Amino acid sequence: MSAVRDSSPGGAPESMPGGVLPWLAAPLHEALRTQRGHALLVQGAQGAGQFEFAIALARAWLCETSESQRPDGLACGHCESCHLATADQVHPDLRVLLPEALHLALGWQRPGDAADAGEGKKKPSEWISIKQVRQAIEFSTLTSGRGRLKIVVIYPAERMPPAAASALLKLLEEPQGGQRFVLGCGDAAALLPTVRSRCHALTLPAPDAALAERWLADAGVVDAPVLIASSGGAPLAAFERHAMGLDAVLWARLPALVAAGDAQPLSRLPVWLVIDSLQKLCHDAMLAACGVAPRYFPAAGVPGDAALPRLADWGQALRRSARHADHPWNVGLMVESLVLQGQRALAGERAPIASATSAAPRDSVHSRR
Ligand SMILES: [Zn+2]
Repeated sequence: MSAVRDSSPGGAPESMPGGVLPWLAAPLHEALRTQRGHALLVQGAQGAGQFEFAIALARAWLCETSESQRPDGLACGHCESCHLATADQVHPDLRVLLPEALHLALGWQRPGDAADAGEGKKKPSEWISIKQVRQAIEFSTLTSGRGRLKIVVIYPAERMPPAAASALLKLLEEPQGGQRFVLGCGDAAALLPTVRSRCHALTLPAPDAALAERWLADAGVVDAPVLIASSGGAPLAAFERHAMGLDAVLWARLPALVAAGDAQPLSRLPVWLVIDSLQKLCHDAMLAACGVAPRYFPAAGVPGDAALPRLADWGQALRRSARHADHPWNVGLMVESLVLQGQRALAGERAPIASATSAAPRDSVHSRR
């Protein structure tokens, strides 16, 4: 996952004042115009930009430039508050609750417990801790540092364990004066119903394709439509995959590479991304076998003559690989094993599809986009 600074992936352009991603501008205007509740649940497909939306909303609410000078309601991007409400600063009236893994990946400061980040060498947590929620509760008792609102952003909200979410309930129901919550999530069904019921829900629309393509092209991504399709329509995911080395050329070649059993070009990708890509290829090969246009890959590259039972077995084996393994014992061998498994499935051989193990889980927080 790429570093994200100031609401936009590292190296990518920010197309509007305040760092607002272009396809989020319209829903932001609407939210700023209509939202009066103290707790907002921003939902949408993975990669629609929930975190970026939540931060842009928080910055707009905290902005100290007169609203008469901000007709669109967005943050001005140059006042003291806007300067502080960025990834590498600490705004006294903004708390951002992220899993440790995302704090590191997004480059966001963790006010109050920065020491945790360096504790030992254990793998960064992919969950929001109850300690972080308790700190947010404590934050709610403080007086506003700059005399305006206080905002708590929580993302991904479904990564709060039940105990942490339960600790937050009272505050969501009876917030202290001048406090607002913005919860971003990609899977609202995974949230406690009691959390959902205390928030006003806002669903982000799918990113406008033309805006997303232009944004990716400005970021130096070639063949942006191919990569947007590879990410199921999520431009942030497309950008991050591109940054990891999965460009449009490699994506278009991937079905042929798997069919040929050539794992080498994929061996430099993270294992979770290889598994995710193979799952998409399996999905598209199933569609093609049924005479339906593929969703993720250019149609010309997807074999249409694979046997459905073999593809179903392959899909199950990939799910097992994603679910049961964590640390690859040898990334190169792991990727080779996964690709050979795919080759057998696409060729329709009768050999059983063995489970390739030791891959990162597909629902890892790193695959949020
Ligand atoms: Zn401002």
